[in-house]
Amino acid sequence: MPYEPRVVAGVEITPLCDAVGPMGPPIRKPLPEMFPGSSFGPDEEWVLHFHCYLLRAGGRTVLVDTGIGGADSPATWAPLPGRLGAELAAAGVAPADVDVVVVTHLHSDHAGGCVVDGAPAYPNARYVLQRAEVEWASGPVRERIVEPLGESLDVIDGDAEAVPGVRVLHAPGHTPGHQCVAVGDVLISGDLLHHPAQLADLSIRYVYDEDPDLAVRTRRDLLARAAVLAPAHFPQPFITLRN
Ligand SMILES: [Zn+2]
Ligand SMILES: [Zn+2]
Repeated sequence: MPYEPRVVAGVEITPLCDAVGPMGPPIRKPLPEMFPGSSFGPDEEWVLHFHCYLLRAGGRTVLVDTGIGGADSPATWAPLPGRLGAELAAAGVAPADVDVVVVTHLHSDHAGGCVVDGAPAYPNARYVLQRAEVEWASGPVRERIVEPLGESLDVIDGDAEAVPGVRVLHAPGHTPGHQCVAVGDVLISGDLLHHPAQLADLSIRYVYDEDPDLAVRTRRDLLARAAVLAPAHFPQPFITLRN
């Protein structure tokens, strides 16, 4: 079942849990290698949660991230299949009801549910992606996600308003066109950070950040402006940073 929603600046934010589980092969590494600069022991476990966020803003329905996708998802390292469809249904939303999909970035655990059977999974939605992300995408991501979206793609450069009250912020580093979503002082952070240890020490890098130094600078910048974090991979869907 979806988590309890919060209403912030007139926008209802409902966290949806697509999956919970450890990272599997082929990308799993011991945590000290996964997070250089951390104090993890080599045998520590990391159980990831995979959160998407449903926003209802002034009669518009916005989905932030599409999760892992179905059993044929390219996210072979994640728990399959994702259960976002059931979560959305429990929240009273059918795929055709979604007006805007904001894809934080094109990694398979966030974009794996964008397309079903070669067509947009949310047939009436525009899919908001950064130009830098679309241009960076290659191989199966381009063929299986970007190209089938076709005219549903809404390519933006930098910060933009997805719908009134919902801002998209370019947040590069993890990927070139990674983006976060701000609703009031709540930051839906995608892969701006991955593990609670990185909240305690913002300088801890992540091995799969495309540009780790830029990721640290972006993390510092955006977290300084947020009061509540809504992270993709932490156990909790909301974390109060400051009152
Ligand atoms: Zn990612
Ligand atoms: Zn992720």
